[in-house]
Amino acid sequence: MTAPNIDTIVSLAKRRGFVFPSSEIYGGLGSAWDYGPLGVELANNIKQAWWRWLVYERDDIEGVDSSIILNRLVWKYSGHEATFHDPLVDCRECKSRMRADKLEGYFPEGGGQFDANARLREGLVKCSECGSTNLTEERYFNMMFRTRLGALADEDDPTALAYLRPETAQGIFINFLNVQTAMRRKLPFGIAQVGKSFRNEVTPGNFILRTREFEQMEMEYFVKPDAEHFKLVDEWVTLYLEWFKGLGIDTANLKLHEVPKGELAHYSKRTVDIMYRYFPERAEEERQWEELMGIAYRTDFDLRSHSNKPTDEDGKRVNPDSTEDLSYFDESTKQRFYPHVIEPAAGVNRTVLAVLMDAYSEKTNDKGEMRVILKLSPQLAPIKAAILPLAKNKPEIVGMARAIKRSLQPVLRAVYDDTGGIGKLYARQDEIGTPFCVTVDHQSLEDEAVTVRDRDTWEQERVKVSDLAEHLQKRLKPYPIAAPEVS
Ligand code: ATP
Repeated sequence: MTAPNIDTIVSLAKRRGFVFPSSEIYGGLGSAWDYGPLGVELANNIKQAWWRWLVYERDDIEGVDSSIILNRLVWKYSGHEATFHDPLVDCRECKSRMRADKLEGYFPEGGGQFDANARLREGLVKCSECGSTNLTEERYFNMMFRTRLGALADEDDPTALAYLRPETAQGIFINFLNVQTAMRRKLPFGIAQVGKSFRNEVTPGNFILRTREFEQMEMEYFVKPDAEHFKLVDEWVTLYLEWFKGLGIDTANLKLHEVPKGELAHYSKRTVDIMYRYFPERAEEERQWEELMGIAYRTDFDLRSHSNKPTDEDGKRVNPDSTEDLSYFDESTKQRFYPHVIEPAAGVNRTVLAVLMDAYSEKTNDKGEMRVILKLSPQLAPIKAAILPLAKNKPEIVGMARAIKRSLQPVLRAVYDDTGGIGKLYARQDEIGTPFCVTVDHQSLEDEAVTVRDRDTWEQERVKVSDLAEHLQKRLKPYPIAAPEVS
């Protein structure tokens, strides 16, 4: 079972401390969300799982953490200043403003070249709010957030203009040579980065699915110009499908989308999106999906455009501002070239949402009451074990429970909770996805044993306190994530 819709997760997330609407006491801020005590743990666990999988378990990937604000020239030569925009239209009937390329009828069936404004004029495109085809022509809106550097800069001083990065990838490209040289890397190898990105989205919404500030997990995998690039895209798609499966996501809720040529980003020759079923409640199957991540073949576009050597037909340097040539010298063939890049780019927030939706389940207890169980993969669960005293007015029981919590903490994230009756405490831990509840009762004082309750089966088992850490660790472990090498 998965969550019936995103709204179910929005209310669970707020009630239980995963995600709160941001700036709520001031009326909120359109589509901004804050991660609460459990949300920050879940997001951290996802980021750590990703980092372990790519940077630690493989031998061909390095990590970096670059600045969010980069030299403006980075965005000039990456093409983002000129082309990182979305088409906007207004509905003349209901006055809504929307992203045109998300509307029904925008792209012709069968793909290929098309004139968007002609299609809008002909009434082929439909307003997502009221269904009218009375829409304005499209105009472009650059999505990069602008800011100014320096306290003395004027509002419109072009020399002070800077952007918040709209993708983490550029921080990797501009460091390609630094990393390659410092780490003495040979192709193929990758560079991974996790961090915030910012896009002034035209129509943010659907909870944490589309926000203006979000977090990405991106990796640029550098290969030779004659590598089988399209095949490598497929290989990374397969690896990521496995990874998402390892996070507990049901593959029935994932599907692939080959991005049609006309819709590719300016740097891409091929992109395959991995889509998640974020909208299971929608009757039309086609409308249930939204992008979870994309795997793009970016060619040598970025490294070449940031380099000072390439020239145009007239022999003029294409990039007179760069001080470096980001090419690579292949010792074995004695050739110099710009590496090509395969880029798997995933969103932390969209992964959080997919994981929460997929983990959601309901179960009825013996009293006929419905309980929510969040069947999170143990590696992602914010709390691995909750230590609960059966009687909170009995100092020996409380003392023993607290001591067990302290003893477990070095090996796994544990909490102590005595804020309700045992039934309530179990229900609360089920709802936040804690795999194990450990109950300390009167008998524990005599036999030095506790009850371990399983979140998914509600089965209970008596375990010696001296064996507890090992017992829990063993049961938390069966979720290894394999990382086979790309050949
Ligand atoms: P979309 O078509 O949904 O706008 P995109 O194709 O522009 O997404 P990419 O540029 O490929 O997205 O970014 C890589 C990943 O970053 C996305 O797959 C998504 O997980 C995440 N991402 C991008 N934009 C947002 C956003 N506004 N809010 C949350 N996550 C985002």
